[in-house]
Amino acid sequence: MAPAAILRSHDFADSDIPLIDIASDEIERMRNPKDDCRRYHSFPPACLALLMSIEGNHRCVDCGEPNPQWAAVRYGGLLCLQCSGVHRSLGVQVSSVRSISMDDWSLEELLSMLEGGNRQLTGFFERHALSVEGCSVNSKTITPENVTRLRYKTKAALFYRKQMELHVQKILDSGPYRGRESSRRNHCHLERRNTTLE
Ligand SMILES: [Zn+2]
Repeated sequence: MAPAAILRSHDFADSDIPLIDIASDEIERMRNPKDDCRRYHSFPPACLALLMSIEGNHRCVDCGEPNPQWAAVRYGGLLCLQCSGVHRSLGVQVSSVRSISMDDWSLEELLSMLEGGNRQLTGFFERHALSVEGCSVNSKTITPENVTRLRYKTKAALFYRKQMELHVQKILDSGPYRGRESSRRNHCHLERRNTTLE
């Protein structure tokens, strides 16, 4: 099956309007719905193209499988189907999972994905000794088979998802969305947090 997300990202390649402008319009429409009062919407196409352009998002954050179509929303990470099942088994307090093509999304969840990213999350896990190579959690060695089960229940992962929540709330409160770089430029307090978020 052709990956819908990648096909859609190509739809914007020839547009004269910057992708971030189209995505920002989509986000503002979600924020101020005219036609209905729905809080949830399918993942808008320009936002989806933006999501797929984020570094690392072409592979599952936990196992490296290409073309991940599922989201660990609270971490802003993309997952393959198999790892999404493991995330579900962790419980919603630890991780909530959505399909980027089949599920509806709230604005907060959407922004969590646009401000997260697999490379960012992987870097965080690496700095907190929660990647596969030679790391352990509670004296258990992390392996490709147990990495998902082990690292999202750590204090470090809890810290990451709390920081993501705070960050998304700041972005929500700061007016029209202007993209990841702008988010980081315009929030001095976030610059300091970037040691952990990036
Ligand atoms: Zn995976």
